[in-house]
Amino acid sequence: MDNSPAFENGSAPARIGRPAFWQLAMRCAQIAGSVDVAFFFLFLILDSPVLAWVNVVSVAMYIGAYYALKQRRNRLAVWLIWTEVVVHAALGIVMIGWGSGFHYYLLMFIPAICLSAPRKWIVPGLCVLWAYYVALSVVMWFVAPLQPIPEMALNLVHLFNLTVVFAMFSYLSVFYLGVVIAAQKRLQKVAITDSLTGLLNRRQMQYLLDQELERFKRSGEPVSLMLMDFDHFKQLNDSRGHDAGDKVLQAFADILRQELRAQDLVARWGGEEFLVIMPQCTVSDALKTAERLRVALETYRGTSTNGADFEATVSIGVTDLREGDDAVTAVSRADRAMYQSKALGRNRVTAVWVR
Ligand code: GH3
Ligand code: MG
Ligand code: MG
Repeated sequence: MDNSPAFENGSAPARIGRPAFWQLAMRCAQIAGSVDVAFFFLFLILDSPVLAWVNVVSVAMYIGAYYALKQRRNRLAVWLIWTEVVVHAALGIVMIGWGSGFHYYLLMFIPAICLSAPRKWIVPGLCVLWAYYVALSVVMWFVAPLQPIPEMALNLVHLFNLTVVFAMFSYLSVFYLGVVIAAQKRLQKVAITDSLTGLLNRRQMQYLLDQELERFKRSGEPVSLMLMDFDHFKQLNDSRGHDAGDKVLQAFADILRQELRAQDLVARWGGEEFLVIMPQCTVSDALKTAERLRVALETYRGTSTNGADFEATVSIGVTDLREGDDAVTAVSRADRAMYQSKALGRNRVTAVWVR
């Protein structure tokens, strides 16, 4: 269960980073709690018992926030953290002055609001934060600190606060950079992958085929193509259900991953069609591999959701890249070979040898 108030209309990076975001919040609660423990002793030494005890309450709130996050009570945790920072900043400033730098902690809410608040609350949230920040500053023009500390101590507190906020901003920035990079990688993968089988999709294969053609023209090293089409797949769908069809497509993708070399490029070319590009592989070697794939699928036994057994076969066409080829001519030659396999009775491998 996730009670989070944030992200309801969240932006894409926030949604993607969601589980990690709450881990980050736990880490921040730990760090902030530790900082407040340090402040407790500092203010005791500086003879400011009121501020020292404020820090005890703060530590208790961070411990509460940490355990709330652990139990996924995110709404409570967010409320505790906000209250702590907003009240603590004001108290610190009113007690020992603007020069303490406690107001810097409020700036941490700018990225927090932008990245995690529902979109319609971002501008109002930032305005409220700005008004609060400015109001605190203006109030301190007219009000003397209630419990001033020596100037040197004030400078030290300022330096400490500045350092903590600097470190936390850096930590947050590195974290969000990681989220964005991970999201980009995921999107890149999705863009080139077929969702059912996890193989390359047709668009990516077309791009890779063009590259292989270029390489072939430069090096002249053999490149084989293999086009595979399931036999009577419509019948299988009709008799055993679409799920059974999907299952065998996935099983065949696993066979391809197991049987082919790492350098071979494997794609789902269409509904129940697969295309393999085999660099540095002659047609006779490709024929042997194709036969192995054909047999592997032939021995596969599936069970449909209603308990009926089923099997499946593929017809395969093999060819190689030739001078003057482009992607269309190369694939259509493999296609012709595959249709020859169909014509000869299916569940077989045919190669186009002669130009
Ligand atoms: P042939 O032996 O001549 O190739 O006959 P076929 O039935 O395999 O050929 P046809 O092109 O008539 O039918 C292909 C079928 O593949 C029709 C379509 O519903 C099915 N199909 C395409 N994509 C998917 C898919 O992702 N999942 C499932 N279950 N079926 C699919
Ligand atoms: Mg087909
Ligand atoms: Mg078919």
